[in-house]
Amino acid sequence: MNIIAPATSRSIGEEQEPPPTREQAEAAIRTLLRWAGDDPDREGLRDTPSRVARAYREFFVGYATDPLALLERTFEETDGYDEIVLLRDIRLESTCEHHMAPIIGRVHVAYLPHRRVVGISKLARVVDAYAKRLQIQEKLTAQIANTIQEVLEPRGVAVVVEAAHQCMTTRGVHKPGVTMVTSRMLGAFRDNPATRRELLSMINGRGVMLQSE
Ligand SMILES: [Zn+2]
Repeated sequence: MNIIAPATSRSIGEEQEPPPTREQAEAAIRTLLRWAGDDPDREGLRDTPSRVARAYREFFVGYATDPLALLERTFEETDGYDEIVLLRDIRLESTCEHHMAPIIGRVHVAYLPHRRVVGISKLARVVDAYAKRLQIQEKLTAQIANTIQEVLEPRGVAVVVEAAHQCMTTRGVHKPGVTMVTSRMLGAFRDNPATRRELLSMINGRGVMLQSE
């Protein structure tokens, strides 16, 4: 069995209960199956509690990841590259902390390097480290940007998140097709309108053309 370390102390309140056992987690899922109106002992549902418990380890693997450590390794041989680095359309899979419903969308992460850069896959891993937790989109956006700022100390960081929240598409107000957009701009992206414009045009897919103008 694959046991992942519990969340770091930073993400849990002061008084920590011991983590539940696998059996307790499965019992809770049986209760929810009954709450839904079904019979957890019927054949099709018999293994569902253990499958859901395993799925939770995937949905919430971010609690076992230290986002700061992901960015520790940086590269300083950049030949003075100091233009925008943008990772566009990173798939976002998260879970709304109010309804435990999926949040599905994409994230664009950009920074303006100051002497050092980071492996681009690491930016996507930072997104996952925060996305694979119970989240609200506003906090997720800020956490990604703040972490990159804190570790890389670049001249600017920008994070734009576009996502659909299934808690409002499949329940509640039932508004499919609605996406929520949040952004956090730090440093030059916040202070310099031209830099921010350049970023937004790159996100919209016209950046390469515009830069040659
Ligand atoms: Zn929700």
